[in-house]
Amino acid sequence: MKRIVVLGSGESGVGSAILAKQKGFEVFVSDMGLIKEKYKTQLIKENILFEEGKHTDEKILNAFEVIKSPGIPDKSEMVQKIIAKNIPVISEIEFAGRYTSAKKICITGSNGKTTTTLLTYHILKKAGYNVGLGGNVGKSFAYQVATENFDYYVLELSSFQLDGMYDFKADIAVLLNITPDHLDRYDYKFENYTKSKFRITQNQTVQDAFVYCADDAVMKTFMEQNEINAEKIPFSIKTIISGNGAYLNENQITINYKNQNPLTMTIEQLALAGKHNVYNSMAASLAAKIVDVRKETIRESLQDFQNIEHRLEFVATVNGVEFINDSKATNINSAWYALESMTKPVIWICGGQDKGNDYNELTELVKQKVKAIVCLGAENKKIIKAFKGVVESITETKSAQEAVNAAYQLAKKGDVVLLSPTCASFDLFKSYEDRGMQFKGAVRSL
Ligand code: ADP
Repeated sequence: MKRIVVLGSGESGVGSAILAKQKGFEVFVSDMGLIKEKYKTQLIKENILFEEGKHTDEKILNAFEVIKSPGIPDKSEMVQKIIAKNIPVISEIEFAGRYTSAKKICITGSNGKTTTTLLTYHILKKAGYNVGLGGNVGKSFAYQVATENFDYYVLELSSFQLDGMYDFKADIAVLLNITPDHLDRYDYKFENYTKSKFRITQNQTVQDAFVYCADDAVMKTFMEQNEINAEKIPFSIKTIISGNGAYLNENQITINYKNQNPLTMTIEQLALAGKHNVYNSMAASLAAKIVDVRKETIRESLQDFQNIEHRLEFVATVNGVEFINDSKATNINSAWYALESMTKPVIWICGGQDKGNDYNELTELVKQKVKAIVCLGAENKKIIKAFKGVVESITETKSAQEAVNAAYQLAKKGDVVLLSPTCASFDLFKSYEDRGMQFKGAVRSL
């Protein structure tokens, strides 16, 4: 029996283990940390052997193939040992993709993945399709391949998942944007990260579709230098697209795919506000059109979609001061769109664990929109250096409560307090969700 070792026992690891067991492999799961109770129960129930708090070489280096959680860097000692032994290391998506013939709509980009994935899923669901949702959101793709029988999947793929994909093919690939993020995992080389994102198009043929942002200069350059086999379907808010694609003209979006009679809507009709969400809405609509969803269903879905937590989420207005939770803005570009969409003077709460940010990209916007900065991070030197003299005041805080209090004190009636950190949360919080929840809790207790 061929032995598969699963490294990392979170949602994707446990799903992979269950699928591998079902397909007749000998399966072993190894996690350097502690495994959550709910996952342990699942593994025990399925009779899958596992270890936690350690990686035992003898139980891992005898694998025929290793499925690695996207959270574990290639540089980690265990992965290096596996690679040295020439054992293939793949991702959950690569593995699960072998066992389903469903049509796969795969969504990646530096920002907007979750929003666009959920929106696309919402449209297909509303259209009555037998569709699953996976990747970084909800239940793992592998678990669903093991237990469900969907005709379509909408999958959110991070660059880390793409890095472990080789033969997998997306029927429809959506690439939203490429801006610097996670450079710590790519030797601080932006071109490595860009290549990783374009893996979403690998193995695609002329029968497949590649939906991409025509306004993105990084993508444009890459596409000039590299062959893409799939049909290229652009979306843009800057230029009018003739032929298949989507574009914005004044305040009207047009979605056109093999249709004499394209779908048009005004941006005021879209449930999601902000320029970035015009992109996300166009990308999701194109993906839905390609799988033949009716125009009217797309229109209704774009109108009634419920925004998701921690993304430009309105929290409350306290004595005329509005509070917005954008805790998921963990890089410069997402915070750029948040600041750009603000119409009132901003008290900006930012900071956290830096992933190689270049704050200069925000200087102009900060000058225009931000009155004061409240840093919420263990280490804030870079932010202070970047914005000293650009805003009236910079305050340092070490908890959500402290940050909210400081921001509230600085704010006047008619101002907005925006948490849009540009950084990961792990220095002071468990996750971006934890940071957002604590922020909202502090606002509600004002
Ligand atoms: P991801 O899953 O790629 O992290 P999310 O949909 O969770 O993306 O959004 C993450 C952050 O990026 C949020 O702060 C959101 O407001 C912002 N955002 C969403 N879509 C875009 C986009 N197309 N371009 C830039 N920022 C975006």
